[in-house]
Amino acid sequence: MTLPLNADLHCHSVVSDGTLTPEALAARARANGVELWALTDHDEIGGQHRAMAAAKAEGMKYLTGTEISVSFAGQTVHIVGLGFDADHAGLRQGLARTRGGRGERAQEMSDGLAKVGIRDAYEGALRFVGNPELISRTHFARFLVETGVCKDTSEVFRKFLTEGKPGFVPHRWATLRDAVTWIGDAGGLAVIAHPARYGFTPNEEYALFTEFIAHGGRGVEVVTGSHSSQEAVTYAGMAREFGLAASRGSDFHSPDESRIDLGTLPSLPAELTPVWDLLADRIQ
Ligand code: AMP
Ligand code: MN
Ligand code: MN
Ligand code: MN
Repeated sequence: MTLPLNADLHCHSVVSDGTLTPEALAARARANGVELWALTDHDEIGGQHRAMAAAKAEGMKYLTGTEISVSFAGQTVHIVGLGFDADHAGLRQGLARTRGGRGERAQEMSDGLAKVGIRDAYEGALRFVGNPELISRTHFARFLVETGVCKDTSEVFRKFLTEGKPGFVPHRWATLRDAVTWIGDAGGLAVIAHPARYGFTPNEEYALFTEFIAHGGRGVEVVTGSHSSQEAVTYAGMAREFGLAASRGSDFHSPDESRIDLGTLPSLPAELTPVWDLLADRIQ
């Protein structure tokens, strides 16, 4: 029996809210035994050519990747795109539009934090930003840990950066239709990221899956750093029920913050079709 492929198709670099460069991530992935890798920065594909070259230098196979922020049923949902043409104009323009509101949102987040006595959070967060177009809540979280307001980033999210908390600013991201269409038009495959994270009602979740498929989406993350082993079982069942291929990815952001390292997740349940089986001709 051959061992299952060690694929890690979800992680973040300094091009979005990770702390490592694409090259450092590639080296870390390889050291952990990853055979097929994808860098999936939030709303950004500016690191793809570097990641591809680094994967090649490490002797790893590569799929292009991104993680698009989408507004759906009053929540933010993430759609991972894999195996697209990284130079596709429509995808590049769509992502640029999605990134567009982040600067203003960050100013408003900073205003909200100032009201509870946390000053200059915008400037503070900016010091952690690698890509000026991609200031995210994670950068604010790092600033609040550095200044000693909270002990770790999850405490910052809980106390300051989630719905109803002083640094939370609702934001309108891409539509589900747009995100899935951009990925498909660029020759890639769209995947629902970490579905257990959204806290949807069964009706809302059913709507997400059916609309995603109607727009051309074909995959769902089953084994991810954001799922418990029980949640992986639940979404393996959903993958079967909806006829979706399954993906696997750590969602690694930082050696200091991420619970799950690159390439260290359990394998996909054997009866599922891995997304990489549908992307054989897109693997570099
Ligand atoms: P944004 O795109 O600016 O809304 O930021 C979302 C990012 O924040 C996610 O991609 C995660 O990296 C991070 N994040 C969200 N929730 C949490 C949490 N509870 N603990 C730590 N990081 C989180
Ligand atoms: Mn992130
Ligand atoms: Mn995500
Ligand atoms: Mn992610």
